[in-house]
Amino acid sequence: NKQIILKEYVSGFPKGSDMVVKTGTIHLQLPEGSKNAILVKNLYLSCDPYMCRRMRKLEDSYVESFTPGSPITGFGVARVLDSGHPNFKKGDLIWGRTGWEEYTIITEPANVFKIQNTDVPLSYYTGILGMHGMTAYVGFYEICSPKQGDYVFISAASGAVGQLVGQFAKLLGCYVVGSAGTKEKVDLLKNKFGFDEAFNYKEEKDLEAALKRYFPNGINIYFENVGGKMLDAVLANMRLHSRIAVCGMISQYNLERPEGVHNLFCLITKRVRMEGFIVFDYYHLYPKFLEMILPCIKGGKITYVEDVAEGLESAPAALIGLFSGRNVGKQVVVVARE
Ligand code: NDP
Repeated sequence: NKQIILKEYVSGFPKGSDMVVKTGTIHLQLPEGSKNAILVKNLYLSCDPYMCRRMRKLEDSYVESFTPGSPITGFGVARVLDSGHPNFKKGDLIWGRTGWEEYTIITEPANVFKIQNTDVPLSYYTGILGMHGMTAYVGFYEICSPKQGDYVFISAASGAVGQLVGQFAKLLGCYVVGSAGTKEKVDLLKNKFGFDEAFNYKEEKDLEAALKRYFPNGINIYFENVGGKMLDAVLANMRLHSRIAVCGMISQYNLERPEGVHNLFCLITKRVRMEGFIVFDYYHLYPKFLEMILPCIKGGKITYVEDVAEGLESAPAALIGLFSGRNVGKQVVVVARE
């Protein structure tokens, strides 16, 4: 059983070498009396920014630290090989929390979802049909209170979550602008995902002025993925009674001390509602979300771009690459295709 192991707790910026590939043995059958556990073969794994935070020794966080010497864990798609759980049987496909290894025994499959629709790419359950699709759906429809005609800005807009938020906003009839870190991504936003405008934030000396260019009358909705300087620039450009959904702050995750935000006073003067959310609190909406998104995918109304890394060994570099923007679209790792 090939595994990706965290060597030690990480301080500072994580590196691929903080993880190591090890090969152990696993009996491909659950031990006698494994009530409620399932043994799975992992097929696709999801690389997520929050996972690097879990490499630190965390106290007081919404996620637990990984255990040094043990496999990394994260979201993935897998096939059930053996089951002691009444809801799962051999051959079922599932998505949810699993290990970064070839085979995993999931002892508490409470947040594991059985995959019912297999006429879409299976890897989609690591992204658009899994946690990231739900994040975009909840963040946009539940937190942003969107209306037709709203002026919407999305940072890290070409990523797993951002590309979907932009498309949801376009379907509703909003004006949508996204920021991303390369020309290739800016082109994707405009030409593939149908954003009205997009810009490369790395080429803008003055982010506040750049936003003023795209939103001369201000922003109604900001979908926050990045934090730091971008948040400050956005705050200065928000409209009266506008909304900010705080989904993530990737620019802050690996800093010893998060940067300060200076323009918070704008929340008062512009009567802005700024609200953080965690997708796990909204899993009860998953069936409703599937009802909406599956016809959109099948009917070509929503498209999804994935960046696929081949083989478990490629996972550490793929994960670290999120922080330099190496991924173009949702970062997926293929462990096995069936
Ligand atoms: P992405 O697929 O968007 O990958 C991360 C991207 O962030 C990179 O490709 C890079 O793109 C950009 N980035 C990296 N470092 C910086 C930086 N310092 N400044 C600006 N941009 C940077 O990730 P996801 O779509 O999976 O996640 C987006 C955000 O949503 C993250 O902050 C994540 O933690 C959060 N999240 C929150 C959830 C919740 O429940 N609240 C659930 C899931 C995700 P570029 O080339 O454009 O710089």
